[in-house]
Amino acid sequence: MIIDDRYYDVIIVGTGAGGGTLTHKLAPTGKKILVLERGGFLEKESSELVEVEVFKKEDYHAPEQWYDNAGEPFHPQTCYSVGGNTKIYSGALLRMREKDFEAVQHQDGISPEWGLKYQDFEPYYTEAEKLYRAHGKAGDDPTEPSRSEDYPFSPVEHESNIQDIGDRVSKYGLHPAYLPIGIGDEGRTDSEDTGVTPAIKDSNNVTLKTGAKVVCLHTNSSGSTVKAVETEIDGQSYLFMGDIIVLACGAINSAALLLRSANEKHPQGLANSSDLVGRNLMKHLMTVILQQSPQPNSGLFQRTIYINDFYWGDENFTYPMGHIQNSGGILQDVIFSESPPILSVAAKLMPGFGLKQLAKRSLGWWLQTEDLPNPNNRVTVKGSKLYLDYTPNNVEAHDRLLYRWQEVLKATDKQSRGIHPYGSVPIQVVAHQCGTCRFGEDPQSSVLDLNCRTHDLDNLYVVDSSFFPSNAAVSPALTIIANALRVGEHLIERLK
Ligand SMILES: Cc1cc2nc3c(=O)[nH]c(=O)nc-3n(C[C@H](O)[C@H](O)[C@H](O)COP(=O)(O)OP(=O)(O)OC[C@H]3O[C@@H](n4cnc5c(N)ncnc54)[C@H](O)[C@@H]3O)c2cc1C
Repeated sequence: MIIDDRYYDVIIVGTGAGGGTLTHKLAPTGKKILVLERGGFLEKESSELVEVEVFKKEDYHAPEQWYDNAGEPFHPQTCYSVGGNTKIYSGALLRMREKDFEAVQHQDGISPEWGLKYQDFEPYYTEAEKLYRAHGKAGDDPTEPSRSEDYPFSPVEHESNIQDIGDRVSKYGLHPAYLPIGIGDEGRTDSEDTGVTPAIKDSNNVTLKTGAKVVCLHTNSSGSTVKAVETEIDGQSYLFMGDIIVLACGAINSAALLLRSANEKHPQGLANSSDLVGRNLMKHLMTVILQQSPQPNSGLFQRTIYINDFYWGDENFTYPMGHIQNSGGILQDVIFSESPPILSVAAKLMPGFGLKQLAKRSLGWWLQTEDLPNPNNRVTVKGSKLYLDYTPNNVEAHDRLLYRWQEVLKATDKQSRGIHPYGSVPIQVVAHQCGTCRFGEDPQSSVLDLNCRTHDLDNLYVVDSSFFPSNAAVSPALTIIANALRVGEHLIERLK
């Protein structure tokens, strides 16, 4: 074991939406910051490479195996690289709605209240939208929360066929809105280009180590603080020391790391006196709908439209149903490997078509419904193995959303050649994972306090999607980013 002789003010583990953003926020303090990232730098895919090969390779599924509750192994769809999952995300940057922070009755149970409210997050949402260059337009969606400032950039225009659908859906009486998207000079904004790279370039106090997988946290003898971060780099073990340790490994890996760091003082795992570490895993109920059209499209356009008319329910079903957005040009999604399921459905329907042709004659719709926190949906570790026990709930609400949207598509697009839902997103799709170390005021019912510091250890924080007590139905990244900025402000005060 090599003991690093430098001492850091802050050690951040992971560089995704949470860790990358926090690195950006803390860099100007001049404090000595070490960032440990298990992945390397991901090469940007050239559009020349778009084709089948990328799709077939299952790129962006992590090379390691996790196990489901039946003990079956799978490769999780998660990206280990500088920028984490923001390197492969779709850049949709949505705020949670005001009511999402309150207790909400769903058909299958209660989505719990947050210890902080929308107004507490609002200034950080504004900061996050500026930082990640959100392009959007307020005012079209009745569920949209209040804003202190307009979007920093005007919305990305719809491709003409999406504009047509949007117009028809409006005439039908719904309220399609521009999907807020983070776009920079080189495409979608991510936490490498926005957070980590500028932090390293503009300051000499931030050290990034890539290929650095944290395997265990060691505490002092009383167990009150984390003393050292054990990390594998090139097959060698290192110990890094710092005043403040921040985990931002993603909700599943942060929980697993805490559980793997069990010791005499923390026999159930670090920060786990509540027995809640790893529990309440949520990941959204998701379905993709493929809509075939006679006219070809470019296949490479952005997601630009969303519909929230069923978000809180409707006159026939008074419980929340969820959120709908277009999946973007399907070729575009092939690049980011999100849509192979869509294309495998299309391939069966139109045998003989190449993937590229299929993609150009298809539109995708992405439907997501809130799943409710259930302590039995959880991450556990046994030896070196990571298990996910996840049983979907709130399923009827999702089915109803699916039914409603198919009805709308049928009623508004008479030319459509078919509408094909592809449901039951499998266990390996953990794109919207959250909730495994929920925050709150009560150490018995939460893992983190409202500053995302663990109740049990004074210098240990978790700043990724783990902190969510519930996950709303909108996509999570902007809330993770806003929270990292919020916690960053707290840490800046603490570091003074
Ligand atoms: C295909 C896809 C599309 C998506 N589209 C959207 C979207 O449009 N809008 C949206 O809001 N959300 C979207 N998401 C979800 C969004 O990307 C995630 O919610 C967000 O990135 C999670 O941020 P995080 O900080 O919690 O974790 P991550 O971004 O997953 O970052 C975790 C980081 O920790 C590193 N790490 C893990 N374990 C260790 C370890 N032991 N040691 C060192 N480093 C470690 C990882 O390599 C990674 O860099 C999408 C996700 C996917 C996969």
